[in-house]
Amino acid sequence: MPKHLKIIIDWDGTLTTEETQVAALAEKSLDTLAKEIVGAPRERLAADYQATRARLLRVPHRYWWEVNGLVASYCNEGAFILNTTTLQVMLRESAAYTQAVTAAFLQAEYAPVVDCTNYLFHRHTAELPPRFRPAARDVLVALAQHPDRTPIILTNSLGDKVRRHLKTLALDELDDEIAVLGDTRQYDMDPDWTHRFPHPQLGEFQVWPVSEKYQIDLRRPVYYRALVQAAADGSQLAVVADTLSLPGALPLMMGIPFFLVRTPYTPAWCAQAVDAHPLGRVLDDLADLPAALDVLPASG
Ligand SMILES: [Mg+2]
Repeated sequence: MPKHLKIIIDWDGTLTTEETQVAALAEKSLDTLAKEIVGAPRERLAADYQATRARLLRVPHRYWWEVNGLVASYCNEGAFILNTTTLQVMLRESAAYTQAVTAAFLQAEYAPVVDCTNYLFHRHTAELPPRFRPAARDVLVALAQHPDRTPIILTNSLGDKVRRHLKTLALDELDDEIAVLGDTRQYDMDPDWTHRFPHPQLGEFQVWPVSEKYQIDLRRPVYYRALVQAAADGSQLAVVADTLSLPGALPLMMGIPFFLVRTPYTPAWCAQAVDAHPLGRVLDDLADLPAALDVLPASG
């Protein structure tokens, strides 16, 4: 009997077309910053946003989503990530913006700027109507109806948003609802976490040196525990996502196959890193996932 396979699927950008939603997310975020948080003119915030975004894209390896002093993701890995990083850099670089954000997020869980961008992300992505990739429905149904496979949605987004949006797919032919593990916090970086990952050539490490310009930090204990928990019943795992640092690097280094769905915003360095890894595979279309799982690389 084949081993049961849990397919962990990222939500934003993997099942959805986040490239078509990001402009609305940025607009709503700037509205809220202007009216409720920073109190600066909307036009000035919008001009700062555009200038910051353009600057990030000129040297993307120098800008990142930073949590607890570590790099959670480079700015150019995804459309929503670029929005989050643009807001963080813009808010950090202006003393007036930082002061206003600090006053608004006094009880910050991470740091005021990080909490502020998390707040804007959760609040405003929940307001956007869902937009699915063309293959999303068929792929979820095929995985759920396969006797040896279970799809699980694992996302940084909040579970209630994901469940509400999933309902619009009307997956009525399925016996059970698709499991959603929301708020999984792949961005939860812990500089004090001592776990090290074995690498065939480089020995043990905590930071994957992908290339000269890009290094992916693996100190993500919350995500690590979520993956270990998912495999605790003896299931084999595979992870599918549209970005590398947040959802993909840790599984690859844990011996879990990872599929990167190529999107209009996928940078070449991410696709190359996944392609070059024995457990990695780049999918040009989400529709290719079920067939790709038929020839799953053997995992450690
Ligand atoms: Mg994603």
